[in-house]
Amino acid sequence: MLNQTHYKLAEGVEIPSVGFGTYLIGNDEVADAVYTAIKAGYRHIDTAEAYRNEEGVGLGIRRAMAELGLKREDLFVTTKLWPGNPAWGHPAKDYTSTIDALNKSLERLQLEYVDLYLTHAPFGDRLEVWRALADLKRQGKTRAIGVSNYNQSHIEELADAGLPLPDANQIELHPWSQKPELVSFLKENAITIIAYSSLVPLSTWRTAEGHDSAKTEKMKADSSAEASPFRAMAEKYGVSEAQLLLRWALEKGYAVLPKSTKEARMKQNIDLFSFEIDEQDMAAMERLDRGDGVAWSSGDPTHAT
Ligand code: NAP
Repeated sequence: MLNQTHYKLAEGVEIPSVGFGTYLIGNDEVADAVYTAIKAGYRHIDTAEAYRNEEGVGLGIRRAMAELGLKREDLFVTTKLWPGNPAWGHPAKDYTSTIDALNKSLERLQLEYVDLYLTHAPFGDRLEVWRALADLKRQGKTRAIGVSNYNQSHIEELADAGLPLPDANQIELHPWSQKPELVSFLKENAITIIAYSSLVPLSTWRTAEGHDSAKTEKMKADSSAEASPFRAMAEKYGVSEAQLLLRWALEKGYAVLPKSTKEARMKQNIDLFSFEIDEQDMAAMERLDRGDGVAWSSGDPTHAT
């Protein structure tokens, strides 16, 4: 039985395998959500400059530390740089504005350091951004650095420039989007894989008003048919479909970041260590790959150049 609750991330740094995602949780409600998640057992929180909720995330963390007797080192906090994207009218960040961006995130979070700082997407000036992230790690402002939504060529570009490889790549991964070649490349290079939007195949995924994505009408229509193998498997193990999808990622060696604003779901989404998916079901899930992800409303950013 796989009972891994941490993965090695960088020299002397471990990442808890189950984190709490905060995308689409507003700054006003996220403090309560983060506090409730930490109380439910989460020790890893994922936010981003672009989520506009870092103040609330920081409040939730401080409340949890004060009320639950936790120390800063008991928690693992990730935030992300928005690197800019001239194609969307956002100026590309350079070395100085990247350094400045983490300092501003730390101020909003009211933290002295984060555990992992990621560049959110392969947009903007990737080499300038990466040089700055490497320096931020050296300065101790972040314990590890990584990328998100990067494909193999984006990572090779960093290596070709003589820069260090990322400690992690955070990408959309679930049975409908398995990216086997990218996953092999990351594993070969010991780059920790963090899966996001693990719950895409659920009929309840981002159904709240305003929580839209590129999940097309076709996928929604298909989901009732496609959900059935997950439903049947989940029943077999006596767990929910969400637990099955999250456990699938753990079996693959990925960290996960389930997001929910509901306490019962938060508890369910971290309760992943009392069952394992057998080889036959893992093989059946492998055959459900449909290719690209759907979480980004403009499509899969790993396809950006
Ligand atoms: P997710 O965690 O896969 O799914 C969240 C959706 O599923 C919400 O609609 C939630 O609704 C519902 N849900 C949660 N638990 C459930 C359960 N047990 N049963 C049924 N429905 C459930 O989606 P995500 O937020 O896209 O991804 C997770 C995290 O990854 C994000 O919050 C963010 O931190 C990170 N992320 C990163 C990127 C990136 O580009 N780096 C992109 C996307 C996400 P309720 O809230 O109503 O429960």
